[in-house]
Amino acid sequence: MQDHQLYQQILGITAPWRVENVELQLNEGEVHVYLGHESQTLWKCPECEALCPLHDHDSERSWRHLDTCQYRTILHAAPPRARCPVHGVRVVRLPWAEPHSRFTALFERLAIDWLKAASQKAVADRLGLSWDEVHGIMDRAVKRGLARREQEMIAYLGVDEKSFRKGHKYLTVVNDLSRGRVLYVAEDRKQSSLDGFWSTLTKEQLEWIEGVALDMWAPYEQSIRAHLPKAEEKMVFDKFHVAKHLSEAVDKVRRTENKELLEEGDERLKGTKFDWLKGRDKFDLAAWRAFCQLRRSNLRTARAWALSEQAMKLWTFSYERAAHKHFNWWYRWATRSRLKPMIDKAKMLISHLPNILTYLKHGITNATSESINSKIQWVKYTARGFRNCDNFKNAIYFHCGGLDLLPRST
Ligand SMILES: [Zn+2]
Repeated sequence: MQDHQLYQQILGITAPWRVENVELQLNEGEVHVYLGHESQTLWKCPECEALCPLHDHDSERSWRHLDTCQYRTILHAAPPRARCPVHGVRVVRLPWAEPHSRFTALFERLAIDWLKAASQKAVADRLGLSWDEVHGIMDRAVKRGLARREQEMIAYLGVDEKSFRKGHKYLTVVNDLSRGRVLYVAEDRKQSSLDGFWSTLTKEQLEWIEGVALDMWAPYEQSIRAHLPKAEEKMVFDKFHVAKHLSEAVDKVRRTENKELLEEGDERLKGTKFDWLKGRDKFDLAAWRAFCQLRRSNLRTARAWALSEQAMKLWTFSYERAAHKHFNWWYRWATRSRLKPMIDKAKMLISHLPNILTYLKHGITNATSESINSKIQWVKYTARGFRNCDNFKNAIYFHCGGLDLLPRST
């Protein structure tokens, strides 16, 4: 009798519930705790919370609870079914677990806390959970969090693509740039991938949006144009995405030129790939001086590099007219450079110019979500066993969504 009371207190079981039996299975390292209830109890209908008489009991179920004294602890009970005059016969809510969970709320809280800090494998090993159980806990946590998310007003969004499975698959991620959290994740990077996001917003939320940072990627543009009022004023092509395009072009020029030079026995460009991509602070003094010489040489690569540097000055202007003037000057230079990769990029930039210059008004880039991106990288590396995209999506919401994930403990 004493161990019943002890377990009742340890487990926090309160009336009308009580511990009726405790079974210690030493060999399995398990404690099985059987719960029952007082007989004269009225039960709340799960729909309307009206107090209703007991109809009967569902078949016995079990829930994994927090370990007691290192014994895996399992609760057993037959959930009562109440007879509500309005809603009919319903299984009542149990104080220790959410419906359909095989774990108690306290156990899920523990698992969620651990999963936030450690890899899925470590948590699975330590708590003796299967992949499916870990994913189930995360899935429920995310559903809970998304359902609780308040209808907050969000001014600046970032739309980003993430590669998944070594670039074979993509996810579209929508970030809240001010609060640094993920709002939405969808498979692929099609227009339809982003289309689904807009319907999660109310009309007021949609109107509140001031700007959206995105890559120069037509499907995203189309989705934004189709759903966001005054989209033309609000779309901002990401500065770093443009920089990446220009770096690629510089590298193309360098590769071709390097090949030609090597044939003549000239090794000036050999092994310099990353010098053209990195900032001044990444050089030591000697290396910087050597690179400066290369930069000032009459090599085609040096010209391409100067073009890309000048293009990036667009982001330093305060006024659109001055920025326009700078671009026109740059564009003439670029298109007369006889450097095919740079001419291609110049044409790409001129066709996207209006929504590059919207940066001057909104000042947003997807780099604002750099902390989210590094978290997503962490998720990718620590969370193995993604059998499908859904698990990866869930893990992103779980770690980067800023959601209230915990089950309500009673
Ligand atoms: Zn009811």
